[in-house]
Amino acid sequence: MTNTQLLKIAEDFGSPVYVYNSNVISQQYKRLTSAFSSVNKVKINYAVKALSNISILKLMKTLGAGLDTVSIQEVQLGLTAGFKAEQIIFTPNGVSLEEIEKAAILGCQINIDNLSILEQFGTKHPDIPVCIRINPHVMAGGNTNISVGHIDSKFGISIHQIPHILRIVENTKMNINGIHMHTGSDILDIDVFLYASEILFETAKNFKNLDFIDFGSGFKVPYKPGDIETNIEEFGEKLSIRFNEFCKNYGKELTLAFEPGKFLVSEAGQFLAKVNVVKQTTSTVFAQIDSGFNHLIRPMLYGSQHEIENISNPKGRERFYSVVGYICETDTFANNRRINEINEGDILAFKNAGAYCYSMASNYNSRYRPAEVLWHNKEAHLIRKRETFEDILNNQIQIDLKPKKAKI
Ligand SMILES: *Cc1c(COP(=O)(O)O)cnc(C)c1O
Repeated sequence: MTNTQLLKIAEDFGSPVYVYNSNVISQQYKRLTSAFSSVNKVKINYAVKALSNISILKLMKTLGAGLDTVSIQEVQLGLTAGFKAEQIIFTPNGVSLEEIEKAAILGCQINIDNLSILEQFGTKHPDIPVCIRINPHVMAGGNTNISVGHIDSKFGISIHQIPHILRIVENTKMNINGIHMHTGSDILDIDVFLYASEILFETAKNFKNLDFIDFGSGFKVPYKPGDIETNIEEFGEKLSIRFNEFCKNYGKELTLAFEPGKFLVSEAGQFLAKVNVVKQTTSTVFAQIDSGFNHLIRPMLYGSQHEIENISNPKGRERFYSVVGYICETDTFANNRRINEINEGDILAFKNAGAYCYSMASNYNSRYRPAEVLWHNKEAHLIRKRETFEDILNNQIQIDLKPKKAKI
């Protein structure tokens, strides 16, 4: 998208605003499927939590994706977007048996990640096929908060507990139709991923009725030019060979599944915010925007470095800025960042704002969550209105706080 198109969107829909380019999403989807073109059955289940706007889910449907969901509400969103229940996999962590049963009764593929629920579910519903989430104990990930495969992680059933899984399966006569892992976001090294895959293959040999193997996600996307990213093409080639070999030995053509979030939507998104104040202090120059970590929390939560471009003055002299928000506590997007000269009123574009940005937004400081716009077929479509004061008050109950009259 051009700066002129982006500036027009900020003008028409106001700031701050999230903008997603559907073209980028389609391209990423095609990149992933073509990397695995030598495997006959490939299923991409989009991880809804990355960006859960219903129009984005509908876009995923047109591309041929299924959905990966982590709450019953995400399942409901998927069904509302027109997905069939069997196109939805439910991969929660630490939710109640009741919630899992709800998704199962709707017809979703269930993925269970602890022995307690596995035993309870298998005892009550031996006829419903279940996928098992394995923890291969492979250390991977860009930030300790998003590394979910290691030994201390709360995710998945440890590979050291396979005998226990097998005992539950035998006792309950339940049917295991899938094996799954999700080792964590931001995998830098495909050898680590391939190593974890080998552990998954070893585990899979224990189950005779598999339909699919789900390799989760964790593809790293570039945040700035020259950034390391997962080499999908090389990874696809290597894993496809191993997957096809495995299927041959297993004696059945299985489906290879992935559930990417970030890879599909991160680069498609930009967050546009306006500079309210340029504040020169004794130590730095602050550019203060009309937003904060209430709208984009990743820099404060994970230390993510989103590229920031001054699209109002792209040819201006480069200077150093600290870009901060309007929240009344430390609220930093970037420190000492080289950006084209910023004037009050300029629009800054934050890159990689498709994944885990809007979906993590809140009303902190009683601010409205921003609007969302989808750039599709060279046109801007509003896909979520900016909130209003009604939304802030919605569900709040004003009670009578007058002191009670004393009884006479
Ligand atoms: C969050 C999540 C994903 C998506 O991870 P990305 O890094 O965004 O691709 C996939 N699978 C599960 C089970 C998840 O919890």
